[in-house]
Amino acid sequence: MPSRGKNIVSFLFVFFFFISSPFIYSQDSTYLLDKKLLAAIQNEVSGERAWDMVSKITRFHRIRGGGEGSDYNRCVDFLAAELKNIGLQEVRVKRYRADGIKKYFLWRSLVGWRAREAELWLVKPYQKLLARYSDQAVSLMPYSQGGEAEGEVVYVGKGKSEEDYKGKDVKGKLIFATGGGGSQVHRQAVINRGALGVIVGPSDKGSRLQFPDLIEVSRLSPKGEEVEKTGFGFALSRRQEKEILSLFQSGKKVIMKAKVKAELFDGEMPVLEAKINGAEYPDQEIIVMGHLDHYKPGANDNASGSAGMVEMARNLLDLVKRGEIPPLKRTIRFLWLPEIHGAAAYLAEHSGLKEKGIVGLNLDMIGENYYLCESRFHLIQSPYSVPGYINDVLFNLTGWLDDEAFYSPRGTRLHFNFRLAPFWGGSDHIMFNDSAFSIPTPMLGHADVFHHTNLDTPDKCDPTEMKRIISLSLAATVLIANAGEVEALRIAREVYSRATLRMTERTKKSFGLLHQSTEEPNMRKSLAELHSNILNYPQVQARVESANLEEVKELCQDKSSEKFIDKLVENLKVQAAQEKKKIDSMYELLCSLNKIKKEVFKPTEMYGKAASLMPKRLFKGPLPWNYAQENLSPEDFKQYQKNNQREGRYFGSKTYEIINLMDGQRNLLAIRHIVSCEYDETDIEFILHFVEDLKKMGLVKY
Ligand SMILES: [Zn+2]
Repeated sequence: MPSRGKNIVSFLFVFFFFISSPFIYSQDSTYLLDKKLLAAIQNEVSGERAWDMVSKITRFHRIRGGGEGSDYNRCVDFLAAELKNIGLQEVRVKRYRADGIKKYFLWRSLVGWRAREAELWLVKPYQKLLARYSDQAVSLMPYSQGGEAEGEVVYVGKGKSEEDYKGKDVKGKLIFATGGGGSQVHRQAVINRGALGVIVGPSDKGSRLQFPDLIEVSRLSPKGEEVEKTGFGFALSRRQEKEILSLFQSGKKVIMKAKVKAELFDGEMPVLEAKINGAEYPDQEIIVMGHLDHYKPGANDNASGSAGMVEMARNLLDLVKRGEIPPLKRTIRFLWLPEIHGAAAYLAEHSGLKEKGIVGLNLDMIGENYYLCESRFHLIQSPYSVPGYINDVLFNLTGWLDDEAFYSPRGTRLHFNFRLAPFWGGSDHIMFNDSAFSIPTPMLGHADVFHHTNLDTPDKCDPTEMKRIISLSLAATVLIANAGEVEALRIAREVYSRATLRMTERTKKSFGLLHQSTEEPNMRKSLAELHSNILNYPQVQARVESANLEEVKELCQDKSSEKFIDKLVENLKVQAAQEKKKIDSMYELLCSLNKIKKEVFKPTEMYGKAASLMPKRLFKGPLPWNYAQENLSPEDFKQYQKNNQREGRYFGSKTYEIINLMDGQRNLLAIRHIVSCEYDETDIEFILHFVEDLKKMGLVKY
């Protein structure tokens, strides 16, 4: 029997070995960027400086239809000067026509807008100021036309349906509605029925009920030809809505007076662009973007992303100047955009970015104080239809953010909290991820209860979180911009590692689906169909992952590195075969456990049709939200909406992907499988209907 003392010595040895070895080695293998560079970034990035810039940007009411005399243009000029001040050489402003008529891809431009002042007064039963533009800019609905009105106000309930207007003459009147959706109320009352203006309270969103003075933004959407009859709108808080509503409820006559000094005109969308040219591969670009527009104050959305990019640009210049990072091999292009519409205009002019753009980063709402905003960080990945490695690079670095070094003096000391999310839309990354450009572009953003309200103020923006997300973006940018053979292999290894996990994860989901279908008698009918579908997924997922790996080759010069990647792709194929066996074996087990007779799925007519159709999209850029409504007959649009409802919350992301995947090479069944792997089980009938609707609108051919 060995002595107790010796035992303790060997225990301590083993103990210290395990304690110390991860400390010694893990820092070099855990993160893709070298420890020294990570430390340099941590020391360089300032959440305080970024926050200061947020507060400066929030002074402007940044409405994306800009033009001479608009606050948006003033903000662009201010920021361009700041960028030159920090030493950026290539700073340019590109201007695109915004007249509410010109289209970029399928996206109709907005109209130019400038506002000077606006006031809304309650005149009777008592005198009271309700809203003033210079107090709270969002109380005047953006894109309101100038004008004056005084008179009795007509209450129209929610003001969004035909019903609400029955027996009421609103022409030439001011109208009051409750329940939010000011833009819809405005269309019904002013554009369709000739009212002069609308006064609308906030929506009934549960999370916002606790803020009685919150004012929601309602952005009007006049087309170029509607400018003359646009009128105006005022948005009220819940407290004000209650007060006005009580007057109507007690049968009082309500008179209001409005005065709006604002104009709609043939304007422009200015895009601010800055470049740091790469020394070795200038034609490979990392595109860092954020929308500069939005409603004053718009601190988190999106002064935070805009300020974060200014900080990043400054950091890059300073780190290179001090020799802490080598000069950049690849080009960095920064874009401060008028959201989506401006991105469409910019890309329509820069079709060459399809080849040059290797990675995009969309910084949209990067500074939320978790506690105040009821928030957390979301890393929204680029979609399956656009292969790339950026999602895995960012995910790899998130672990590094959970470090005290990121706490900023005036920031919170809350722990980093984030979720990895599948692709979804809503911001500029939808343009860059479109298959016309295929630049893999994740979005870095936060959920936020104050999104698009008067309460999105700088105090909701946390210097600590700013420092974290800017550091994350910067570390990923530095890694890719300067990647050589060593870094490319590390990235390939990381993508492969995560791919093997995703494939296992996909099989886990398939097990769950099988189990559910065997447990629930009414789902057994479709068991054979489910089994037949999910048997395809290992191979589908492996193909998606292989395409991601292949993209890493753009960072490689050596044949041996390419061979390394080829070998990893081979390994994914082997894993796919294994995953398929696992699914089959689980199917057998569950069938015998539940005494279910195994059946062979006979593909229905719809499956046959889907397998025979290879659609090709005939347009660039994603489908605008209102496009189907404007281009299908009312009857067809009703069916279109019904079809969408089938797919629930992922409908928007799925249709985006279906369009992106329609390259004339894949059939609809293959597209169905990819979308199902990315999100959840997708009804074949839904896809057939959707593509048929696109065909009716002349957007696809077979
Ligand atoms: Zn935003």
